Amino acid sequence: MRIPLVDLKSQYESIREEINAAIRGVLESGQYIQGPNVKALEEEIAAYCGTKYAVGVASGTDALILSLDAYGIGPGDEVITTSYSFFATAEAVSRLGAIPVFVDIDEHTYNMDTARIKEKITGRTRAILPVHLFGQAALMDEIMEISERRNLVVIEDACQAIGASIKGRKAGSVGHAGCFSFFPTKNLSCYGDGGMITTNDQEFAERVKVLRAHGSRKKYFNEIVGYNSRLDEMQAAILRVKLKYLDQWNEARRKKAHHYNELLTELDVKTPVELAGAKHIYHLYIVRHKARNEIIAALKKAGVDCGIYYPVPLHLQDAYRHTGTQALPVVETVSRETFALPLYPEMSDNQLGFVVKSLAEALMSIRI
Ligand SMILES: *Cc1c(COP(=O)(O)O)cnc(C)c1O
Repeated sequence: MRIPLVDLKSQYESIREEINAAIRGVLESGQYIQGPNVKALEEEIAAYCGTKYAVGVASGTDALILSLDAYGIGPGDEVITTSYSFFATAEAVSRLGAIPVFVDIDEHTYNMDTARIKEKITGRTRAILPVHLFGQAALMDEIMEISERRNLVVIEDACQAIGASIKGRKAGSVGHAGCFSFFPTKNLSCYGDGGMITTNDQEFAERVKVLRAHGSRKKYFNEIVGYNSRLDEMQAAILRVKLKYLDQWNEARRKKAHHYNELLTELDVKTPVELAGAKHIYHLYIVRHKARNEIIAALKKAGVDCGIYYPVPLHLQDAYRHTGTQALPVVETVSRETFALPLYPEMSDNQLGFVVKSLAEALMSIRI
């Protein structure tokens, strides 16, 4: 048996007719940019996340860049974020000339360690950028409390967490802005690039709308220097079909994750920790073991694909080495030991059982 890490094609096959009809509808409409599907999707995502506004943009990375820009974050400003994320989190900050200031992570949830935020705040700190890593929300109450006391902007990187919640509030709806990605492997995904910004701040929503369209409200009249960063009609139409299935797919992921947890209790690997009050949507199912690399190699031989998210913490990336961030011991250890097991909504019990059996055998073999 061969088990891929994700299986995007089987999802397409399960909704093929609806997707094909949506694409054909856009092709025949003659409207390909900023049309009715984008507007409808924005309303549907705002309703889904429980925010007043949602603004479609070209990618999750752009959602971060435009949000930071619209809140006036620029050269010399410091943005506190986690060192354990996809590169785009820090890249967005640097793109605006601002400085990402990395904090260490909590060793159980792998999210930003909120107890360490305060020690990183300086006179130049303008924002906090938490990431809801792997599908579990960061501790937003703690983050909002710090931000309110210090008058900081909070931008949530919710790219991996659409549909997750914390204390009943959806990821991306607690901070001043929430940023989402619809990259093909995300829990809600399109067939290309796409992104969304959620917010309750009307002025901010207006600013990102102006920024995404070359700084203009009215075509060919440009108020400010902006971007070309729009979500296109085709992707929006696809996303509107898939949004209807998102909760069902997230539930399937949760069920499979809990099934893994049960089957792995006997094995010597650390399974994901779900906090009380946090609804984890398992963008990735992450386990931890000191002999990670040997285990992955053995699983590969058995036909099971694993992934490493992420092998190098952001503060140790070549792009940031020069910044001289002090050691962040937790993330440096964790990033050497974690790996993702295959998980996708369409995965069968049989496939899941095979992964567990192969992992058990891999663990046996490395002990010898
Ligand atoms: C995917 C992702 C992004 C970037 O999204 P793109 O749509 O690929 O630009 C940013 N942050 C995190 C945490 C992500 O997982």
